[in-house]
Amino acid sequence: MAHVNPIPDGMQTITPHIVCKDAKAAIAFYIKAFNAVELMQLDAPDGKLMHGCIQIGDSKIMLADEFPDWGSVGPNTLKGTPVTLSMYVENADKAFAAAACIACGACVAACKNSSAMLFVSAKVAHLALLPQGAPERRTRVLSMVERMDKEGFGSCTFTQACEAVCPKEISITNISRLKKEYLASAFSEDK
Ligand code: SF4
Repeated sequence: MAHVNPIPDGMQTITPHIVCKDAKAAIAFYIKAFNAVELMQLDAPDGKLMHGCIQIGDSKIMLADEFPDWGSVGPNTLKGTPVTLSMYVENADKAFAAAACIACGACVAACKNSSAMLFVSAKVAHLALLPQGAPERRTRVLSMVERMDKEGFGSCTFTQACEAVCPKEISITNISRLKKEYLASAFSEDK
């Protein structure tokens, strides 16, 4: 008889299993928002998701639709849940540092070119670094840069005057991130 590994390859000891009203929509959301990879989808004869599995980072999560006849219901039906899933992300500190921008305009006033790059880059970096900002990441940076150009703000020549006057100590490194984000988005087919 063939040997069957009691622990399937790649599975951790404990795996969260989410039951929800529309598990396929939940999977689509996790793919968009958190770059989840779908590993498995087993449908019931009526098309509901009987068993699904996704991976986010190095963690696997199982999902299924509600099957009330079997006593399996999700948070919508229960009107709440005592369970939360916590996710560690590498760039949380940088994202929250960028989020400190209060749109005061001091950076634009200090810049000899009247550039709004520090302000715009803080907004772009804040959202680009968090998984919640992933779905509109590409379109956001393109439209923000387009708007900045249309409004007639000048270009950035890296004098660093903006960083020096920023009351929230927003770093000029966000401008490099903005440029990277813009180039990646401009040449991406996935907008
Ligand atoms: S000076 Fe700082 S806080 Fe004010 S708009 Fe510019 S980046 Fe934001």
